[in-house]
Order: sequence, then structure tokens, then C-alpha cells
Amino acid sequence: MKPEIEKVKVLIIGSGPAGYTAAIYASRAGLSPVLYTGGQPGGQLTITNDVENYPGYPNSVTGPEMMEDFRKQAERFGTQVRYGLATSVDFTTKPHTVIIDEQVTIHADTVLISTGASAKWLGIESETRLNGKGVSACAVCDGFFFRGQEVAIIGAGDTACEEASYLSNICSKVYMLIRKDEMRASQIMQKRVMNNPKIEILWNTETDEILGDEEVNGVRIFNNKTGEKSEIAISGFFVAIGHQPNTGIFKDYIHMDDAGYIKTIPGSTKTNVEGVFACGDAQDNIYRQAVTAAGTGCMAALDAERYLAEFEND
Ligand SMILES: Cc1cc2nc3c(=O)[nH]c(=O)nc-3n(C[C@H](O)[C@H](O)[C@H](O)COP(=O)(O)OP(=O)(O)OC[C@H]3O[C@@H](n4cnc5c(N)ncnc54)[C@H](O)[C@@H]3O)c2cc1C
Repeated sequence: MKPEIEKVKVLIIGSGPAGYTAAIYASRAGLSPVLYTGGQPGGQLTITNDVENYPGYPNSVTGPEMMEDFRKQAERFGTQVRYGLATSVDFTTKPHTVIIDEQVTIHADTVLISTGASAKWLGIESETRLNGKGVSACAVCDGFFFRGQEVAIIGAGDTACEEASYLSNICSKVYMLIRKDEMRASQIMQKRVMNNPKIEILWNTETDEILGDEEVNGVRIFNNKTGEKSEIAISGFFVAIGHQPNTGIFKDYIHMDDAGYIKTIPGSTKTNVEGVFACGDAQDNIYRQAVTAAGTGCMAALDAERYLAEFEND
């Protein structure tokens, strides 16, 4: 069988807020983008219920509905949205080469990487069962749903401290579960949580079950030094043990930080490879919000459009 090869001007990898926003801008600029959705069409928001902080939805919207709107808007201007996974790339070629599902070869003048990031989870059954029903990996996104209530957060890095502080402004009490007798977080962040009267730190503490049938109503914890078990009543359980950017297939070509977040040239979405741009959570380990992902998606499309204009005039 003849191998499938296709040439495109703009290839967008990923279908979260960053990818679809890039697609809306690129298609309205007449660049006929092709977008591959990856294994999670619509991205991370498809696993959440209410999104209350995305502008334009005054009565809130569910994550899946919102991402359906993004898709329709991108398709309305001519984006070809296709189901498929980028399985390898070669960015030494011009145009760049991207292989989809190990069989389709796309040659693209510009590649927009919007593959997002995945939250790391504890991997216990109750966490999966109660995800979106009180279990969350994003305090900024979901903390508001627990205002005035008691919550717990697990994690010991800067992000966990930051999220615990954020939650303490909204919730009546925040239990912080730390596996060791020390934190990984910077001294300044540690001080901030330790001096916060609404945050109670539980050292050497882990959980093996988040409690609740329809929604979270507690967490079972144990002290890993003494073996002592107890339960605390909470209505929200936040997992803050890190994120994994979905950038593995680009690592031989694209500069990244130690965690795998793509480095972009400040003030732009340009990577170290000409014609390859990165947007959304794949290059953002700080804000990680739908609106910031969409913002950088817009930037990536505009950067690609300018690059193509120069490229065509060469
Ligand atoms: C449970 C939860 C609730 C949240 N709630 C909110 C909220 O209320 N408000 C808010 O602003 N933010 C929220 N966030 C954060 C928000 O979802 C992210 O910041 C945002 O989705 C990032 O968008 P993105 O486009 O960069 O990537 P993602 O949404 O992560 O999408 C990445 C896309 O890339 C695709 N992909 C990955 N690898 C490949 C590949 N090799 N080939 C092709 N495609 C690939 C995936 O299939 C996916 O479509 C929440 C996150 C979670 C997990």
C-alpha cells in the first residue's frame, strides 16, 4: 500500500483550548489548518463539570460543552479536525515531518504544539471514582466550589503550597498532607503555609482512601511512621503532586526544562526550531488555565501566520 503523505501549511497538534483557539485564528487567516485531536478530544476540560471562570459564560458551562463550542467555532472557519495521535516528528526537515498514528505522514510548513499537560494522580480507586465529585487537581479551577468548607490537599512542592494558600482564602480550613517530615517547596513558600492559621500540616501522612459515595465527605489518612490511622471530614480533596507535560515526542528537537515543559522565546510562542510554535499547558507550568491556554493559542497562530508570510517572501 502506498504510504499516505500530505502537505499542509499549518498543523495543530492537540484539541484543548490552546489548539482550538490557534485553529480559529489560523483558519480565519485563510491558512486551512489541520488539527489532530489526540486521545482526549477537547483536552483536560472534558473531565470536569462546571467551568465558571472562562469569560463569556455568565451562567457557567460544563467542560465538555465548552470544548464542543470551541470545536464548532474552529470548524466553522474551515479547520479540518481529525481524530489521531502524533506519534513521532522530525523537525530537521523542511517542511517539518509529523507522523500520525504511526502511518500518516504530514509535511507541515508550521507546527503548533498544543499537547497540554496531564495532572499526576495518586492512583487509588476512590480518587478516580470521585474525580469531579470533590476530587480535583486544580485549586484555582475548583476551590470556589468549596467556599466556607473544609478541604485537604496532598503535595509538598511549591505548587501545593501555593494552592493551599489559595484555598485558605476561600475555605474554612485546609489540611495539608505531606508524605515526609519535610517539604520540597522553597523556604518562602513553606513559611507562608506554616504561618497560615487556616492551614494544618499533617507530616508523614498519606491516604489510601478518599471517602464518599456520590461526593467526597472525608479522607482516611495514616501516619507512615507510627501506622496510626484516622479519618478527617472534608468536602474537597486536592491532588497537587505535579503535572506531566505531553511533550515526550518532541524532546529530541525542542528545548525543554527539566520537567518537560517546552521553552518558548519570551513574549512569543516560538521554540528553538523555526516554524515550530508551542502554546497552552505544554509550555506553561505557572498559570495552567483554559483562558491562558487559549491566549497563547491565539499567539501561536499569529506567530505562525507571520512566519509563513516571511517564508513565502523569501
Ligand atoms: C479536572 C480539571 C478541571 C479544570 N478546570 C478548569 C477551570 O474550571 N477553568 C480553567 O481555566 N482551567 C481549568 N483546568 C485547566 C485547563 O483544563 C487547562 O489549563 C487547559 O485545558 C489547557 O489547555 P491546552 O489546550 O494547553 O491542553 P489540554 O486541555 O491538556 O489539551 C491537550 C490536547 O492535546 C492532545 N494531545 C496530547 N498529546 C497528543 C499527541 N501526541 N498527538 C495529538 N494530540 C495530542 C490531547 O488529546 C488534548 O486534546 C482544569 C483542569 C483539570 C484537569
